[in-house]
Amino acid sequence: MKTVVCPGSFDPVTLGHLDIIRRTAAVFDRVIVVVMTNYRKKNTNCFTAEERADFIRRCTGDLANVTVDFSDGLLADYARKVGACAIVKGLRAVSDFEDEFQQALTNKSLAPEVETIFITTSSEYMFLSSSAVKQVCELGGDISKFVSPEILGDIEARIRRTGKTK
Ligand code: ADP
Repeated sequence: MKTVVCPGSFDPVTLGHLDIIRRTAAVFDRVIVVVMTNYRKKNTNCFTAEERADFIRRCTGDLANVTVDFSDGLLADYARKVGACAIVKGLRAVSDFEDEFQQALTNKSLAPEVETIFITTSSEYMFLSSSAVKQVCELGGDISKFVSPEILGDIEARIRRTGKTK
């Protein structure tokens, strides 16, 4: 039984993230999507960890081997605790690479038994990020091509009500 973790801030989860989660679920036995605190983005999150996890649960209800959790500790410790053989990340463009490479090497040194595996983005989601979703939404644009219909209304309501993405 191969368990993997898909970590991220998911603030909020986009169709790009969901594409990676679905493709990961097709390859591994068990996928734990873990909502984490990214210390560089900590004070700019729009949604709480519970809200972000709830959004992912609502979009992955049809995937029997996917569960959602959150953690504010070290990813390497979390992966070890749940018995994961790998951390699976999505890679968009060259701009993602340097940071992801550094994180992968750090995690390898903290938990050598846990591999990091990269899945390349699908070309239609190459430009898509949570921050772009928040910006477009705040300025009144249509985000229905960027997020799942299950959560579209809640994201629009929150961002347009508070009028801020930070
Ligand atoms: P973080 O705050 O840790 O960067 P994100 O929520 O932004 O987390 O992203 C989580 C993971 O999903 C990262 O590996 C990121 O590269 C990947 N990812 C984000 N957007 C996309 C996308 N559109 N296509 C493929 N992978 C993506």
